[in-house]
Amino acid sequence: MLGEVGPTAKNSTVVAEKSNDNVKKSPRPRKKLPVVNKDFQLEKYNWHRLRRIIHFLCFLIFVTLPFFNVMRFDIPRARFYFAGFELWINEFAIIFFSMLFLMFVITAVSMLYGRVYCGYLCPQMIFSEASINLEEKVKTFINKKFAKQSIKVRSWMNRIVVYAVLGLASIFLAFVFISYFIEPRDLFWRLVSFDVVTAGGFAGAVVTLLTFADFAFLRQKFCTTVCPYGYLQGILGDDNTLVVQYRDPEEICVECKKCVRVCHMGIDIRNSPYQIECIHCGECIDACKLIMGKFGKDTLIHYAWGEKGELLGDKTKKWYQRIGLRDVKRFGVFAIILVYGTSLAVALSLRHNVLVYVAPNRATMYREADGRVYNAFRMTLANRGGKDQTVTLSTADLPDAKLTLPSNEIVLKAGESVQQEFEISVPANSLPEQVNHFEIRSAAAPDNTTDVFKETFIMPQEKK
Ligand code: SF4
Ligand code: SF4
Repeated sequence: MLGEVGPTAKNSTVVAEKSNDNVKKSPRPRKKLPVVNKDFQLEKYNWHRLRRIIHFLCFLIFVTLPFFNVMRFDIPRARFYFAGFELWINEFAIIFFSMLFLMFVITAVSMLYGRVYCGYLCPQMIFSEASINLEEKVKTFINKKFAKQSIKVRSWMNRIVVYAVLGLASIFLAFVFISYFIEPRDLFWRLVSFDVVTAGGFAGAVVTLLTFADFAFLRQKFCTTVCPYGYLQGILGDDNTLVVQYRDPEEICVECKKCVRVCHMGIDIRNSPYQIECIHCGECIDACKLIMGKFGKDTLIHYAWGEKGELLGDKTKKWYQRIGLRDVKRFGVFAIILVYGTSLAVALSLRHNVLVYVAPNRATMYREADGRVYNAFRMTLANRGGKDQTVTLSTADLPDAKLTLPSNEIVLKAGESVQQEFEISVPANSLPEQVNHFEIRSAAAPDNTTDVFKETFIMPQEKK
């Protein structure tokens, strides 16, 4: 709803109060501290600014990934693009491995750094905050420029402008989102021709409507009602997971509630570091730092390694502890990620763009003609790369062998696959054995990849 910003603090839920030691209930007594620096400012790179920079980079990545085939499914063509590789659906093992790797990385990051994904990287959070900022800016602008209009008129103007901008943004975001599943240029032509009939066009229209509803009405409520990740975090985290925590050993909180006002999730972090709404964004840390700085004190809210652990950035700890590797379990997880990542890189590097598969066609064992013996074979060629390739075949360990192909330079366009029957022949009396082992070799250019197939050549049982 316009004007609403996430769930109210009243509705916030404490999911896992591992300890009640730090739980403080409002109302708290208001402190009277002397102001020592009323001009106190936050340092340039505070959490808020860091989030804005990361959000912007994430937005760029989200928008560009499908256009550069870094990660994209192509459902109509049954392809999965990963790190520039075009994987075909029959390469399911690599696709499955890639998905597993990404899931494992997200799980490991959650274990170490809590909900850092939600606060810093999640597109839902990025666009929800962007829509709230947009609404606030439009409201300020209209109130300033049309101050003479009644509140009702300004409210309608505000709604119309915000919904119009969100509508256009939803079309763009839905386009980018569906580009992860349909080739972007194909999708673009469906968009400009107002296609809502084909599957791609219909999906585009539905996703646009859902995106609009999400960013106009649902926003951060999505995180606490629909998204399972926050609940999952309760299972993944442990006593050493990074949390945002209120620590006030001197009991100097001045009860200004700025930490509550800046929280887009609408909670009071002073109640517990384990509230399900908390996305560990650190906005309340900046807010408290700004307030307490005026009193010459440090912030009362911090990133900490668990409820009882030391604060983030504690220089007395070793470097690996400072980055979150704080127990054997975490080293184990880190080692598994390394093994996974290395295996995936090896699997991708061993993969050829040109797939060649040759198998004998034993519908007839052999045929004789023109003083030669013929064996039939079938080849399957697929060019899974982005440029044209030329495949040539040759034989080894089969004297005087000839391939009967219209051309032994088979040109495969990018993405093309071909199935073709061909024969190999030898002079009738050239081989002494009935079953002769030999090799068919393929070479693809310009990739310079080769494949070798061990085959058998069948001769007649009785030579003429
Ligand atoms: S309580 Fe603080 S860290 Fe948690 S969501 Fe609110 S502002 Fe972000
Ligand atoms: S911002 Fe800091 S001082 Fe103000 S209410 Fe929050 S914790 Fe207390």
